[in-house]
Amino acid sequence: MNEAPKSLNFLEHIVEEDLKNGFPKEQLRFRFPPEPNGYLHIGHASSICLNFGLGLRYDSPVNLRFDDTNPVKEEQEFVDAIKRDVKWLGYNWDTERYASDYFQQLYDWAIVLIKKGKAYIDSQSSEEMAAQKGTPNEPGGHSPFRDRSIDENIRLFEAMKKGEFEEGTHVLRAKIDMSSSNMLMRDPIMYRILHKVHHRTKSDWCIYPMYDWTHGESDYIEQVSHSLCTLEFAMHRELYDWFLDQVYDERTVRPKQREFARRNLSHTVVSKRKLLKLVEEGVVNGWNDPRMPTISGLRRRGYTPESIRNFADTIGIAKRENLIDVSLLEFHVREHLNKVSPRVMGVLDPIKVVITNYPEGEEEWLEAENNPGDESAGTRKVPFSGEIYIEKNDFREEANRKFFRLKLGGEVRLKSAYIIKAESCTKDTDGNITEIQCTYDPKSKSGSGTQESLRKVKGTLHWVSVKHAFEAEVRIYDRLFLDESPDTHKDKDFMDFVNPDSLKVIKGFLEPSLKNAKVEDRVQFQRLGYFCVDPDSTSENLVFNRTVTLRDTWAKIQQNN
Ligand code: ATP
Ligand code: MG
Repeated sequence: MNEAPKSLNFLEHIVEEDLKNGFPKEQLRFRFPPEPNGYLHIGHASSICLNFGLGLRYDSPVNLRFDDTNPVKEEQEFVDAIKRDVKWLGYNWDTERYASDYFQQLYDWAIVLIKKGKAYIDSQSSEEMAAQKGTPNEPGGHSPFRDRSIDENIRLFEAMKKGEFEEGTHVLRAKIDMSSSNMLMRDPIMYRILHKVHHRTKSDWCIYPMYDWTHGESDYIEQVSHSLCTLEFAMHRELYDWFLDQVYDERTVRPKQREFARRNLSHTVVSKRKLLKLVEEGVVNGWNDPRMPTISGLRRRGYTPESIRNFADTIGIAKRENLIDVSLLEFHVREHLNKVSPRVMGVLDPIKVVITNYPEGEEEWLEAENNPGDESAGTRKVPFSGEIYIEKNDFREEANRKFFRLKLGGEVRLKSAYIIKAESCTKDTDGNITEIQCTYDPKSKSGSGTQESLRKVKGTLHWVSVKHAFEAEVRIYDRLFLDESPDTHKDKDFMDFVNPDSLKVIKGFLEPSLKNAKVEDRVQFQRLGYFCVDPDSTSENLVFNRTVTLRDTWAKIQQNN
């Protein structure tokens, strides 16, 4: 894969600067560090493309590191899903690492800190500690346990590890500065007691290291040169550096934390916690529901890895948070699917057309191009007969000159087939049209080379032969949230903005070539949009997800509201 972006983002400038100042290129190393407490989402895709993109640009290793320090929320299922998603996006990690692999090393280093007088066991309740924290403008107070002897601290820490205490009775805290203007430097907690089974270390540990203590030291163990994280960690950088100072050896690479802005996508939420809520409350059918902004949801919806990478490249890396409109993501999938997906025909809201001058009982198999923009995509055979379906809204009894579809007395071309003319229509007692009678011009067959076949008519319609078409389930998706930024309202919960009509299930009539379609196959239903075969499909009931329409209709609908 060769897709290092052309212009440098500000983080790449930092790396370039370091190289210029003598940092050896072969020591560059990056990591992508997800916590396995949910599935990856489109925001993570930015971080993945950034870190693995740097790896490709500098030919440097990139680790996949699971930041698994909270046994309560982490699961093997999430580890597996994350690996699958990163691979699917097209990236290969150098080594697969787990912060939990470093629990022993972290523990040993914690002992070093205690011995240096830089960490102590606090036996206060969390309320007592909170009361001493102070405010950004007022210094905090010292814990009565802050001056415990080194020996006592070691004895207690070992007892904590052995499981002699209940949760919440003791913590290990770094001894830094209770009057620091950075609240994170006011004796942060390094370890807490959790009598919980960890998905990897099982019951080996009942004390677990906190994020700040774990992350920088894990970077150091792996000799990550540039540790890139999102802006909410900017204030943590001071602590990251303080923890490194305690264990750093000058002969090794000292990791450098730098921050970039989180990416937010409109009409959805990108936070594992909130996505979990959608799953748990049954708003969606699992993490990979095609309406979810997760990588696995987008895959199931029909997105390609290329389209997601192109999207991430286009929005780039920013220093400030902003909202990216989901239509930009849709633009990228449209652009890619336009190049790669075969064209087929399906009618989703059918009305029957009887071609009165077509020889009774006859049928023919017409040659149709799979992709007009790509000759190498080849052709396929599409059956034609005297009874076809077209879309209901492609016919009107009367219409003005701007209506290029079928109207009484008017002509249209049937895609890859003949020109037909609407002669009359039949209605039920309520006045609904139930059938249209047409005649066809037998000499107008597409591709036959006759003068009639080249005759221009304004409209071209997709269609299927009634006798040959088969029924399939089609799932039409809309935005999951009605508000463009559902989790930014002070007085309302993001769940209040869930779109109750985000899924519509309909029946479609499809051309027979689709009978052999496989799960994850992507096609363009001509004039309707891009569709992808859903894993819910069975041999009797194929299920298609609409990935995206051919045009951006949402923006228009919004403008008209
Ligand atoms: P969430 O709130 O969804 O759980 P997180 O930041 O806690 O997000 P992690 O698993 O810790 O999720 O994230 C792994 C990496 O991806 C981190 O470096 C994080 O900064 C980055 N990341 C997470 N969300 C986004 C986002 N929306 N945009 C860009 N990067 C992100
Ligand atoms: Mg997190």
